[in-house]
Amino acid sequence: MSREFDTDAVHGGSARIDLTSAFVFEDADHARREFADPRSGRVYGRWNNPGVRAFETHVARLEGAEDAVATASGMAAISGLLGAFLDVGDHVIAPLSVYAETAKVLRERFARFGVETSFVDLRDLDAFDAARRERTRVIWCETPANPRLAIYDIAALAKRKGDALLVVDGTFATPYHQRALELGADAVVHSATKSLGGHGDAIGGVVLGARSLCEKVHDDAVRAGGAVMSPWVAFLVSRGLQTLALRMQRASDNALELARRLEAHPRVERVWYPGLPSHPDHELATRQMQRGYGAMLAFELVGGLDAGRDAYDRLKLVTRSVSLGDNRTLVTHPASTTHASMPAEQRAAAGIGEGLFRISVGIEHVEDLWKDIDAALAAT
Ligand code: PLP
Repeated sequence: MSREFDTDAVHGGSARIDLTSAFVFEDADHARREFADPRSGRVYGRWNNPGVRAFETHVARLEGAEDAVATASGMAAISGLLGAFLDVGDHVIAPLSVYAETAKVLRERFARFGVETSFVDLRDLDAFDAARRERTRVIWCETPANPRLAIYDIAALAKRKGDALLVVDGTFATPYHQRALELGADAVVHSATKSLGGHGDAIGGVVLGARSLCEKVHDDAVRAGGAVMSPWVAFLVSRGLQTLALRMQRASDNALELARRLEAHPRVERVWYPGLPSHPDHELATRQMQRGYGAMLAFELVGGLDAGRDAYDRLKLVTRSVSLGDNRTLVTHPASTTHASMPAEQRAAAGIGEGLFRISVGIEHVEDLWKDIDAALAAT
């Protein structure tokens, strides 16, 4: 019987925890059976764990995927998937707008192993076509993307991917707002640290796709690479999944309301939220995403670095932190934190203005959030 997403979030899995590093076998026959299925979670804790397997099946159901493989972090999912499929001489196409650590892994780590990456604006399909090579093995797409919520057309990229692997980092959207496999992607990755877990208390990741793809990633990155998800984390993120629909809907509704109010605020130069008609990719986001546009928004404050620093310091309820996808509303001011060491011109080229704020909207009452933000902006 097919069920709605919200029901599957609650009933589609179970949060359990088995704290053992190696499992006990009744007899030789039992041992042989368990060894035949290295992903069962009932052999050895680096291979898998029953609670981790329960999380994998649960999240696969929500994403509409055949299978999933959980990892120690979002970056372990990203590096693990890339490492399982890339070979010396292969080529990757990745978006200009992408999580900085993903860009770093491609630019530095995979480059050392003879893999070249072309960073292109994936909105420009002619530029994408021009970047294609015979050895293009992976097309990396993050949508919505850091830092200004660019949206890339998954279905259009899927049509042009040829035999390359199209991978979508859907961390900002979660399967509640976007199901990339149904749009033609071969694999989806999420940082489970963010909205899947949702409570800011666990680091984890997941790769989703066909069973054969997940088996390859499991064998390479988890079993051999050691990037296994901890049973504690599996318990926490499985519990988080039960409320994913509720949390995302509330956070997304709050984000739209805050984006509208920020857009009308005299101290705000520009707002980027895919749900606003002023966002350059609004139409595509409306086609590609469901039930709203997610919890992430960015805005540029009038007054540059000093005004940005000042507003950042004045916030009382909105929490200063680098992460996202928490029940609490979190704020980052890249120019004075994550990107402070980068020269201003380089920051500007990366789309990070001096007064740029990124907000991960939480599930608090929107009026309390607005009071806090409005007071911080008014004082600048
Ligand atoms: N993907 C995106 C879009 C992210 O924003 C992040 C972290 O912020 C990651 C992946 C990495 O996840 P983790 O911190 O769990 O390794």
